[in-house]
Amino acid sequence: MRKHTFGPTGQQVAVVGQGTWDLERSASAAIAALRRGVDAGMTHIDTAEMYGDGRVEEIVGEALADRRDELFLVSKVLPQNASRRGTVQACDRSLRRLRTDHLDCYLLHWPSPHPLEDTIAAFEELVAAGKIHAWGVSNFDEEKLARAVALGGAGKVACNQVLYHLRERAIEHAVIPFCAEHEIAVVAYSPLGQGDFPKSGSAGGQVLAGIAKAHGATPYQIALAFLVRFPGLFAIPKAAKPEHAEDNARAAEIELTPDELRKIDAAFPPGPRRSGVPTL
Ligand code: NAP
Repeated sequence: MRKHTFGPTGQQVAVVGQGTWDLERSASAAIAALRRGVDAGMTHIDTAEMYGDGRVEEIVGEALADRRDELFLVSKVLPQNASRRGTVQACDRSLRRLRTDHLDCYLLHWPSPHPLEDTIAAFEELVAAGKIHAWGVSNFDEEKLARAVALGGAGKVACNQVLYHLRERAIEHAVIPFCAEHEIAVVAYSPLGQGDFPKSGSAGGQVLAGIAKAHGATPYQIALAFLVRFPGLFAIPKAAKPEHAEDNARAAEIELTPDELRKIDAAFPPGPRRSGVPTL
């Protein structure tokens, strides 16, 4: 499994990890898929207190508590819980459900009504207590990121988790450059468009199919390989099917040529710069 340095943490983390949204719908298959994914090197696990109202964290705990040492485990606090006290309490609940004593990274799920300085103070309290090793944000545009860096200090914001897939490349205009400049990891969520993937008969789908054939791969794997082409980028596809998890892990090994990168870029252009950050 290829790894990139995860922002200022300096940790080498699997470039393709495992999302967990919606996994409560098929818990037993999900447990098999998560374990198969870890076997294949996808040790970067993304979850959140929001998913299944905590049920998904329980499933992740059930699936992987015995393999905790292998994981880079990330969870997220809901914005409405992200007060100074609320963040610490939410983290304690997540740790219990995940059957662990620490998270590798803890994120604010999206911008919160609570003052960001309070959330950051809580994150720092959790770091001091050893309950989290690093903290980051999600769904932050470059302006909000700049504020988080100003409040937290240089080298504190470990990552920004954002919507990024072939047909949603808006973060390439300003968010990725800001993160590269400040050594913040960029984690692509919904990297397969939440299952709404370019159709095989479409022009873009045909480009992906041609490149996939040359690599003995699937178009989904080519899409993932494209998203993690920059240092500091990660993708966290969700797979409830074990065979999808295996495919996603193999995507990390695919090296696209400059010509293939150009073809994908032309077939799925980034589009114009927009204000804010794209969300689902
Ligand atoms: P996604 O990963 O883009 O797409 C998931 C869909 O793709 C599922 O239907 C899955 O099928 C299918 N799939 C996965 N691997 C495949 C493969 N190799 N070949 C064919 N199909 C494949 O969507 P997502 O769940 O929205 O995003 C991924 C993760 O990002 C989430 O699970 C969550 O952890 C995170 N996320 C974060 C935020 C945020 O606000 N921070 C928002 C959304 C998502 P099966 O499940 O049937 O295998």
